[in-house]
Amino acid sequence: MNHVFLIGAGPGDPELLTLKAARILLAAGVVLYDSLVDRRIVAMAGPAARLIDVGKRCGRHSASQAEICRLLVEEALGGHMVVRLKGGDPMVFGRATEEMDALRAHGLSFEVVPGVTAATAAAAALQLSLTRRGVARTLHFLTGHGAEGGLPAHDFVSLTKSGGTLVVYMGGETLPGMAAHFIEAGMPPDMPALAIENASLPNQRCHKATMATLPASAARQKISGPVLIMIGEALGESPIIEVPHIASLPSSFLSSTISTWDHAGMQF
Ligand code: SAH
Repeated sequence: MNHVFLIGAGPGDPELLTLKAARILLAAGVVLYDSLVDRRIVAMAGPAARLIDVGKRCGRHSASQAEICRLLVEEALGGHMVVRLKGGDPMVFGRATEEMDALRAHGLSFEVVPGVTAATAAAAALQLSLTRRGVARTLHFLTGHGAEGGLPAHDFVSLTKSGGTLVVYMGGETLPGMAAHFIEAGMPPDMPALAIENASLPNQRCHKATMATLPASAARQKISGPVLIMIGEALGESPIIEVPHIASLPSSFLSSTISTWDHAGMQF
């Protein structure tokens, strides 16, 4: 049986992986993983799995997607059970469309397993609700980096008028231009804004500022890990608590849970 799984690995903390993802990983024949996926999660693949780092192998992201699709199809046609492991959730800025199209074009069946996306992991880590009654009625996920490179031409006026919480993925580099566009579009310069780096990991850092001051304060912090920019009134209402990282459960917890399911006859 050949079968492909597009799996969300979550934001980093291995405990945020779904049990479904862990169970499928254990049975995988081939695992194609992105560079953002935590190595401890990749290591959860069964001993027979062939591990392929498509982030490294394929070089720059924009040039690599066709190659990743080709590999995915080739491995699945070769009769392997293939896991495509992606950071966060595969359906949120994960280029899942290209991969699903390639699989469909070859008549290959696949399943998608959701993961915890960076936005909700960050909200949890900071004990900050992204929505708030009467304050933030909408939630927008935007990319700070368009297909053509640089800041995409978002409708900054509508986004500002929405009054909702804005969460910007891949926005570290374009933050200064984005902040200028929002302020030009009518956003108050003192709108709460923050940058959170390595959300859910022990090296998580959060820089809280305003829309006007975040670009300079983030630049001073020399951010090097994946970073999420969050903007909106809802962020100003709660104190930001950096929750200490909780020690991981013993790995035997996972293996005993999965073997309980095996005894209960759960199959792929
Ligand atoms: N599919 C992923 C997003 C991929 S785009 C998801 O659902 O989370 C990559 C961007 O996600 C990064 O540039 C960064 O903006 C964000 N990101 C991913 N992991 C993160 C983390 N642990 N902390 C902060 N931002 C993260």
